[in-house]
Amino acid sequence: MKSNKYFVFLIGSQLLYGKQVLNTVEYQSKEMTSYLTSKLPFCITLTSIITDSETAINTIKKINNDDRAVGVIAWMHTFSPSKNWIRALQLLQKPLLHFSTQYLDHIPYNSIDFNYMNINQSAHGDKEFGFLTYRLNIKNKIICGYWKDSQTIKAIADWMKVANAYNESFNIKVASFGSIMKRVAVTEGDKIEAQIKFGWLVDYISLSELEKYVDAVTEKEIFESYSALKQRYTLNIDNDHIKKDSVLYQLKLYLAIKSFLTKNHYSAFTTNFEDLGSLKQLPGLAVQLLEYDGFGFGAEGDWKNAALDRLLKILSNNQKTGFMEDYTLDYRKKSGLILGSHMLEVDPSLSSTKPTVEVHKLSIGNRNAPARLVFSGSKGTGICISLIDLGTHFKFITYDIECFNNLPSTPHLPIATQYWQPKLGLIKGSQQWIENGGSHHTILSLSISPEQIETLSKLFKVNYIRIK
Ligand code: MN
Repeated sequence: MKSNKYFVFLIGSQLLYGKQVLNTVEYQSKEMTSYLTSKLPFCITLTSIITDSETAINTIKKINNDDRAVGVIAWMHTFSPSKNWIRALQLLQKPLLHFSTQYLDHIPYNSIDFNYMNINQSAHGDKEFGFLTYRLNIKNKIICGYWKDSQTIKAIADWMKVANAYNESFNIKVASFGSIMKRVAVTEGDKIEAQIKFGWLVDYISLSELEKYVDAVTEKEIFESYSALKQRYTLNIDNDHIKKDSVLYQLKLYLAIKSFLTKNHYSAFTTNFEDLGSLKQLPGLAVQLLEYDGFGFGAEGDWKNAALDRLLKILSNNQKTGFMEDYTLDYRKKSGLILGSHMLEVDPSLSSTKPTVEVHKLSIGNRNAPARLVFSGSKGTGICISLIDLGTHFKFITYDIECFNNLPSTPHLPIATQYWQPKLGLIKGSQQWIENGGSHHTILSLSISPEQIETLSKLFKVNYIRIK
């Protein structure tokens, strides 16, 4: 079922050619609206045809105030003088797609006459509108193409998901348990600027606050959660009571963190192995279960990646997208490989195998052996996305990657793994990544395109470098 959110289709025209022409414009626009709605992830609604400045302004004001209206798709069916659009576009606070298309996909050579030309003017009408958005420096998306072509529809669908994620970004709240790992630079940043630019609210949460929620979890809740875990994953704990206790403890942490986040309206969180308060284990399986539920995550207090992870989970519908770290390298393989992972917290949305629940000692953090999900990552085309704060401005960096999963197992490193190779190769890719200041923590995705990140960075008015 489609979401109750929708996009508004604004059709531009003018009164010059009379009522008959406008009726045809409206009729054709209705046909396009219902066709596109049937093919796209969100509904499109049509307003009255816009022929003057007052209607444009009033329409935009209504859209701005309607929480269900995600964004605007504008198409100039006929020539719509752009002075009519200046104030309306200045007032618009939602993402704008300029859709440059035409009712017919061809020129009707045998029948074309001036009557046809009075109705079908998008070839020049869309350029008039394009000039104005360029002049106003709106940074809107432009998609050119025939409205029934599958490529065009795919481009609109990709844009819609970005527009929706952009709006949702301003609702993201990050709970940072124990703040940031000492002396690390890249995980730092200007939280006020992040809230101004991206809408992210980041709160430090002391472990003593979380401990109250840990104490409140009941045995019954833990055992219900244990049954669900056994249904979803393979338990590999050899009937060992100590290992089972470790799994149950991670479930307790999962329920406690989830309860804290939900009650306090957070949709992303960070942990820090240097500050675990009285917790008996570093949250591992607990984090992975929260990632499965759609919460954004950043390790070592990495709040920028936690918020970005949540944002990109909205964009990708939580498909094959998660927090990642460059773990270790293989220079020997053809063009080189990066093993991506983290201590425990690798996102199960990236798995291509049924994850196993395992318990192994962790030589960092000075706590009990934690349970975690172990699995192989996915195969296919993807990207790594980094967001860095340079003091004066934020910057998005991505590189195009190829992901792999059929590699030798690592029996003495019992963690989930995702292998990848920069499209440029390991050496050139790493070189450019480092030259651009890209972080060791990223969000890796096999379901988000670089074009979507470009659209997103334009909406946020943040610099973007694509390494490809
Ligand atoms: Mn890390």
